[in-house]
Amino acid sequence: MSAFVGKYADELIKNAKYIATPGKGILAADESTGTIGKRLSSINVENIESNRQVLRELLFTAPNALQYLSGVILFEETLYQKTYDGKPFVDVLLENNVLPGIKVDKGIVEIAGTNGETTTQGLDSLGARCQQYYKAGARFAKWRAVLKIGPNEPSETSIYQNAHGLARYAIICQENGLVPIVEPEILTDGPHDIKKCAAVTERVLAAVYKALNDQHVLLEGTLLKPNMVNPGSDSPKVPPEVVAEYTVAALRRTVPAAVPGIVFLSGGQSEEEATLNLNAMNKLEVLKPWTLSFSFGRALQQSTLKTWAGKKENIGKAQEAFLVRCKANSEATLGKYGGGSTGGLASESLFVKDYKY
Ligand code: 13P
Repeated sequence: MSAFVGKYADELIKNAKYIATPGKGILAADESTGTIGKRLSSINVENIESNRQVLRELLFTAPNALQYLSGVILFEETLYQKTYDGKPFVDVLLENNVLPGIKVDKGIVEIAGTNGETTTQGLDSLGARCQQYYKAGARFAKWRAVLKIGPNEPSETSIYQNAHGLARYAIICQENGLVPIVEPEILTDGPHDIKKCAAVTERVLAAVYKALNDQHVLLEGTLLKPNMVNPGSDSPKVPPEVVAEYTVAALRRTVPAAVPGIVFLSGGQSEEEATLNLNAMNKLEVLKPWTLSFSFGRALQQSTLKTWAGKKENIGKAQEAFLVRCKANSEATLGKYGGGSTGGLASESLFVKDYKY
């Protein structure tokens, strides 16, 4: 059975390809109200709408930063917010050739009878929500599925449920004009080695692409957002070249060449670690039919957040910190990052056990 080709096919292909432009990547600024609250409380800032607006305005108006981005993922509240001067954030992004995206999942719930494995909610009325978001200017979407590595995990049930959910989400987005970012995140929690992470990543991605095919998703109009292949959080780290070799091998074995771009999540790596790993992948001299880029949340915002610290007088400096990370990651998409873009702040581990986005 061939892919579904609806009225949006050409637009989906064009937008997915644009987001995957080498040298550009995605800022994931779609933290839910609860998650952004944790970030703000780490710098003693109250989690109220006006403070969330200031942080997002700081990011979207950082001088010279948007040239390194092709997309920004927003939370629903942010999609409808404006700058202090009254310009919609969506217009700020579009004027700088950055496509607005929207988080459309409604978080995760436990699958009964499993050892704490989860599935993602939000399929009900997803089509209607996609139509509203498209009207508001969104052109792509994100849905995060979460899997974990344990003695018997991920289970077949969890792999099947999450792959099926991602595929249903993807086709509903495409029917309504939004490029789906397909995100099966395998958490880094655990004592496993990198080989185990590679084997699980391959198994999960194979199931995801089977499900996407079964739902007739147009792969040319999608993007993949995977974890990098790393040892577990309780195991020693390995050099970027090793991460690159395992990650690219896993992707080459499972992701069809029709997919234009793979945009990694940072998943608790430090800013610098995530950039160096991405750079090493792009330096690898093997055939890579897709662009390898970034869709980082924590690894693009951490030093910016710390530098800002909720103070008006720090906004300029915080925007400079954001520019540094955007430029470094842009270079990493081309395999041209020299390393060491910022000092201590960029090397801080951002790992949080059982991370909830
Ligand atoms: P991190 O880069 O902070 O892992 O988050 C990216 C993201 O959007 C997860 O859904």
